[in-house]
Amino acid sequence: MMQPQDKIYVAGHNGMVGSAIVRKLRQLGFNNLLLRTSKELDLRNQALVKEFFASEKPDYVFGAAAKVGGILANDQYRAEFLYDNLMIQSNLIHHSHLNGVKKLLFLGSSCIYPKIAPQPIKEEYLLTGLLEPTNEPYAIAKIAGIKMCDAYRSQYGCNFISAMPCNLYGPNDNYDLNTSHVIPALLRKFHEAKVNGSPTVTVWGSGKPLREFMHVDDLADACLFLMERFDEPGFVNVGTGEELSIAKLAGLISRVTGFTGAIEFDSSKPDGTPRKILDTGRIIQMGWRTQISLERGLKTVYGTWSVATTI
Ligand code: GDP
Repeated sequence: MMQPQDKIYVAGHNGMVGSAIVRKLRQLGFNNLLLRTSKELDLRNQALVKEFFASEKPDYVFGAAAKVGGILANDQYRAEFLYDNLMIQSNLIHHSHLNGVKKLLFLGSSCIYPKIAPQPIKEEYLLTGLLEPTNEPYAIAKIAGIKMCDAYRSQYGCNFISAMPCNLYGPNDNYDLNTSHVIPALLRKFHEAKVNGSPTVTVWGSGKPLREFMHVDDLADACLFLMERFDEPGFVNVGTGEELSIAKLAGLISRVTGFTGAIEFDSSKPDGTPRKILDTGRIIQMGWRTQISLERGLKTVYGTWSVATTI
């Protein structure tokens, strides 16, 4: 069990997931947090990470640092998605082992599963088929991370665990239209169309892919839950158990933002995996469930972001 005085390193604390974990930890009274921006500590650099762990000696590590992005970014920056993620996670996991970290949580993503998998996707479907090509480099890195946690557990007895969330959204998301995921992209596109009085908004792909979206505060809650209760090899899916099509999502975001024009689909852009809903039976059986509905989550995220943004 983590104690309030324990030194907890949240890697990637400025990102959407890391910042949500920090909010949750502080809310629960964990204030001995170890935080470094990527400028202060480049986690791809083995020598710097070695020095950092040796001098700081964290008790617990949340591995929320990663090179992330939406479908186009994953496809365009294939080299960086593989290199950056492999380096970051290898350094974190290896130096956590060398410095006696009591427990480490590694975070992956539902894109680790085969492109065509039975739905909902159970943890044991990992490595049973070919990956979705658009995000294969990212998925390969994340699969290596899971296997690394398991290898350090079996060879050295390290208590390193992994969690695989569905698609996420929330505060501190990336709103750059070229590199973002679908929710921030559509919030921005619909908001700008409303403010500028544009008649249409263009949504990528066919609108048919099905996705499962979770507010990052729910993920942070699950991360703390797993840190306290899960001590096994392998990993745990974290999701809402609800899916909707990208066309339905666009309709919902259109309502949330108050846009009244038409929605168009750009079929020159990729759809990616047709469907990826996680089987969350394992974490539900452990006693955890989500709390934030998609509609409520989108409303709060849009409310905060639209006030902070200027077009
Ligand atoms: P994915 O789950 O890894 O495919 O990640 P994304 O969030 O980038 O994309 C999810 C789905 O939304 C894909 O089918 C995209 O083609 C679709 N989509 C529709 N409009 C957009 C957009 O403006 N940006 C992004 N990133 N995806 C979009």
